[in-house]
Amino acid sequence: MSKALLLLSGGLVSLAGLAALFSMAFGDAEDTPSPSPTPAIPPSSPDWATRPSTPAARLQAEAERTPGTEQRWSDADKLAAVDARVRLPELLNRLRARGFQPRIAFTWRALATQDDLLAKKRSSVSFSFHNAVQNGQPAALAADLFDARYAWGDDTHGSPKSNGALAFFRAVGEEARALGLVWGGSWTGRPSFWSRYDLGWDPAHIQALPNRELARIRSLTLPQVLGEGRVVAGSGGYVYRQFGNGYVQVVDGPALRGQLLMPRGNAKAWQAITREIGAVPGQSGLVA
Ligand SMILES: [Zn+2]
Repeated sequence: MSKALLLLSGGLVSLAGLAALFSMAFGDAEDTPSPSPTPAIPPSSPDWATRPSTPAARLQAEAERTPGTEQRWSDADKLAAVDARVRLPELLNRLRARGFQPRIAFTWRALATQDDLLAKKRSSVSFSFHNAVQNGQPAALAADLFDARYAWGDDTHGSPKSNGALAFFRAVGEEARALGLVWGGSWTGRPSFWSRYDLGWDPAHIQALPNRELARIRSLTLPQVLGEGRVVAGSGGYVYRQFGNGYVQVVDGPALRGQLLMPRGNAKAWQAITREIGAVPGQSGLVA
């Protein structure tokens, strides 16, 4: 067991304690974590300066200062930051043809925005298909849609606004299925306003790939946004990759393999591990 995990559980080593920690860190995932690929070979030396100079890395660095600006982009900018496999223009046209007024809440999100949403419990994963990057460019493999008139309803069953949202989300599900997309409305097992209508708990969300592909997309994305960082051994068989901005990925160990740990959404685990392996030079102020 890692010293960091021991710190977290107050020295009480128990499977129940570990399970609680993991569920605290990752909740019931928006995108269920899947097994991670074989750990990469560690770089020969840490090089904190090699954060890539790609558009996605620059946006990520900006988002570390002001997370969430992507939500305020124009729909045209949001469309430019989505992978073609999401077939978003086609989906939007189909919804318009049915009389809806579809708007985009999110396509691409920076990791710092994901961290913010995780901390606010508006998402339960530290990496989602919204964070995907290709060739250094934002290339979301997911989108969240709403109707301009109804948004997510008004939390009142049977109200015109909620019924309008309901009709819109049903249409999103039908058209997503017709286009071969994965729809968040088919995800059950978590209570939501929409459960009683068979709309799962994320009916605004569509994605191009099944959840089992998430680990592969994460391993392609992280180096393009955060660089290689350094690989460092922790106790208890854990191996971590610490990126230049301080984020930590669990490379190997008894649990959480492949998962990304961030300062806000995964605060306790991130702080404990950062204390154990040492902060990135110049980033020590982030460690509470
Ligand atoms: Zn989403």
